[in-house]
Amino acid sequence: MASRGGLPRRKPDLEFYLHRVFRKKSFRPLQREVIAAVVEGHDVFLQASTSFGKSLCFQLPAVISHGLTIVICPLLALMTDQVNSLQAIGVPVQTINSSTPLAERRLIMDDMLSGHPRTRLLYVTPELCQTDSFRRNLSTVHRQGQLTRIAIDEAHCISEWGHDFRPAYQELSWFRKNLDDPAVPITALTATATPRVRSDIITILGLNFAKLKLFNTPSARPNIHYEVRYLQNYDEDDDISPEDLRVQDLLTWLKAIKRRQEARIGADAAQRPPISGIIYVGLRATSEDLASRLDSEEMISAVAYHAGLTSQDRTRIQAMWTSPQPPQQRSDGKPPPIFSIIVATNAFGMGIDNSQVRFVVHWTPPRSFEGFVQESGRAGRDGRAAASLVYYNTQERDRIADRLMRDADNVRNRGGSKSHVAGLLKNQMARRESYQKVVRYCETVTKCRHALIKDLFGDYELEEMGSQQPPSIFGGARSDRLSPSASPCDYACDFCKEGSSGLAKRKGKMQAADALHGFMMDQMNELHQYYV
Ligand SMILES: [Zn+2]
Repeated sequence: MASRGGLPRRKPDLEFYLHRVFRKKSFRPLQREVIAAVVEGHDVFLQASTSFGKSLCFQLPAVISHGLTIVICPLLALMTDQVNSLQAIGVPVQTINSSTPLAERRLIMDDMLSGHPRTRLLYVTPELCQTDSFRRNLSTVHRQGQLTRIAIDEAHCISEWGHDFRPAYQELSWFRKNLDDPAVPITALTATATPRVRSDIITILGLNFAKLKLFNTPSARPNIHYEVRYLQNYDEDDDISPEDLRVQDLLTWLKAIKRRQEARIGADAAQRPPISGIIYVGLRATSEDLASRLDSEEMISAVAYHAGLTSQDRTRIQAMWTSPQPPQQRSDGKPPPIFSIIVATNAFGMGIDNSQVRFVVHWTPPRSFEGFVQESGRAGRDGRAAASLVYYNTQERDRIADRLMRDADNVRNRGGSKSHVAGLLKNQMARRESYQKVVRYCETVTKCRHALIKDLFGDYELEEMGSQQPPSIFGGARSDRLSPSASPCDYACDFCKEGSSGLAKRKGKMQAADALHGFMMDQMNELHQYYV
């Protein structure tokens, strides 16, 4: 922080505010370092998993500092969640979005322009930041010396290479170009960004390399056991359908967990809240069918969760999900369930918080690698052991690849200006590259999956850029590369447990495991040629 009269200003007591305002006992690893960098006025880039508590990294500095922090947030639901929880602890926070009544909007603006705003955090959409009137007002607040910093949540939306590209995010480049003398510090936060997306975030926002501090959590989480479950490819002569095969395999896996739990805690097991798990499926219909099928099992209670549910159903399921209750006799007379499972399409996402998920299953190969890392990362957010399973065979692999190709064709046929189509194609290409990483992740049998995830996700590049990571119980990401003989993940993956030959044998079950369609590569090369 700037000094006055040559004397350094006293450092704020971060712990005091953490306890007093946010009512939390202690910072999570690395959180304190990020917050200190933000408070000191650096530009900050933070890439961290959903469990990290990213929002505290701009909320706490906003509470400590004078003036206003602008928070850019892409989703109304996310914004409302954060605003409500800040209001509940008495932080002066406001939001302007599509549902803010005009009169309220005026009151907020009046406060903002008063020269000494009471509001500490103002949540807005990227689209609002594009409007002349809002920009004019921001410039005024800046001239009055009251614009403390800008926090950009879900910053990966800025990049056409990202999976959630949002054009309005690119216009956020306005901040650095226009709010200068002094420049307003920017904090960019994301859970998922490939090296290309990261470089877009830094370049487009104009983050100042000399003053930039980078932080990240490893993309592969040490407490998650990663495993790929290979399934044999389906043949018409088979007497069991692929779906049945998966259900059978999952039930076997769950029964083994049940046995282990009973052996460990005996009869008390029945008194415990059920073990929570999420199964991600591709289609709403699958979500309904699978949920009812699993729910008919004695040891399981399962519900479907997808975008087609009424908001009442969603609220009910969310409530049940976020605070698992000790078991009760079920209405159908069955004994209390051992497992509570949500079968969800990937609409099941942000804002739903259960730190005790013990397993996340991908019923078919995920469509994007970033999605996979984020979704599997919903397991074990309490830091305790958890598992990520992916069901995989080459038939499913090719089915999804075909669908991605069709999406790209649709984009091409839709027309529009050349630059518009080029942008969309770039995005499609990024999607396919991301899917190819999923394929590599699933088909590699010669490497620790934790190391593989970090490799595919670009953790090592971040390290080379000087990004700070939380201390690792395995001695940091770099050591993964230096000690190929030891298990880099402490035996928390199928490769490290079964070895390459064991894994290759299981993979052999798929039969006729061809390489991924050549056409996917060809088309990508073609796109590269024309549009990049
Ligand atoms: Zn491993």
